[in-house]
Amino acid sequence: MQSIQLIIANKKNEQHAKREIEYCYEHVRMFKSRLTSMGLTPDDFQRIEDLSKFPIFEKKEFRKHFPAGIFAGRYSLDDARLSRSPSSGTTGDRLVTFEFGTLLLERAINCSETLPKIATAFSATPRKHVRYAAPNCSDVECANPNSTMEDRLMKDGTLILPVYHDLLTTPEHMLDRAIEEIESYQPNLYYIDATHFAFLVRHAKKRNKVLPEAPIVATFSNVTKIAKAQINEMFSENAVKQLVSMSEFGWVAMECEHGHLHLNSKSFIFEFINEAGEPASVNELAEVIITSLDQGALPHVRYRTGDMYRLQKGNCSCGSSSPVVTFEGRKSDFIYLQDTFVTPNDVDEAIGVPSGLALYQLVQKEQTVFELRVIVNEHWLQSSEQQLNQRLSTLLGSNTELNIVKVPYIETGRSGKFRTCMPCEQGE
Ligand SMILES: [Zn+2]
Repeated sequence: MQSIQLIIANKKNEQHAKREIEYCYEHVRMFKSRLTSMGLTPDDFQRIEDLSKFPIFEKKEFRKHFPAGIFAGRYSLDDARLSRSPSSGTTGDRLVTFEFGTLLLERAINCSETLPKIATAFSATPRKHVRYAAPNCSDVECANPNSTMEDRLMKDGTLILPVYHDLLTTPEHMLDRAIEEIESYQPNLYYIDATHFAFLVRHAKKRNKVLPEAPIVATFSNVTKIAKAQINEMFSENAVKQLVSMSEFGWVAMECEHGHLHLNSKSFIFEFINEAGEPASVNELAEVIITSLDQGALPHVRYRTGDMYRLQKGNCSCGSSSPVVTFEGRKSDFIYLQDTFVTPNDVDEAIGVPSGLALYQLVQKEQTVFELRVIVNEHWLQSSEQQLNQRLSTLLGSNTELNIVKVPYIETGRSGKFRTCMPCEQGE
């Protein structure tokens, strides 16, 4: 069964959704009290279409009722089997989530079904993954400048590479050390933030180093075309694969060999809701609502993610039956214009991969005044600047003012993540 606004892999998941609702009603205090206040019981779910009768839960409710109200009653926070994932709090609303490591692993395996080489690297023995991302994304105290490689080697075989909080101010000796550690560890998987890793790759090129080949999973923040191209240039064509992963759920969507992003519809039920709160249609911008199905420690029924997608039409040529989407970014990064808005993905499409561009950030200074900050190298041409200006002006509208400014440095956000779009304050 598959309708436009509701993604469900198979009939079995309808049963799993029913069971998840019963499970939450029985074990999750916040869920039960909300249902009771609406006069609902699990019996109101008989078939998948009934899911829409149930309330949508917001992140702030999870924060408010943490931990006792949202935890499945039979488990406790100090359960050794639980894995802790703090969100990066890009919008200043950090949320800590706990889930069973085994469930997260199962979700990751389901998600990487479209990409066997990732699944293989995930189950390889010995497992040798390296992680290169903002320090508080990796949540390891020892990602500090003075730690040793041994300090940063996790029990699961993940080596957390040393990263400076404000990426572009990372001292060269620290970049050299990250490269040396990769060479010595010879990873079978890179788990990286694309902007961060592209920065490291640019440094490696400067040193005439070639990093060892391995599949590359890019997550933590938006994967820009330019970062992807810079990384792919050093590795094999098509090496970087986008992964959408959420601290609340683990792996939610992954790019296949044919370059399309597939939802992990085996592990979750997805609903697509448009700006008006109605079920979205194909290619319409939609917020995704997720329901978990595996009776974890912290189950979610109809959880509003704040992440925006567009659902694409038809099946992918890779053969996967999982729906194809584009990830448009977080709602909080959208740029609102007079009567419309553009997404970070729209901006990235317009920027493209002009020669000589290392990094960019679009800053909305006033509603119709923009500054595109670019870090460029010697291959940057005046003509590419003009073309870029034209493409971006077309996207932002003729009544906007756009200045392209070459800068030596762009600051990372408070979370340590790099934001490609900085909308001006909308006013609270
Ligand atoms: Zn595909």
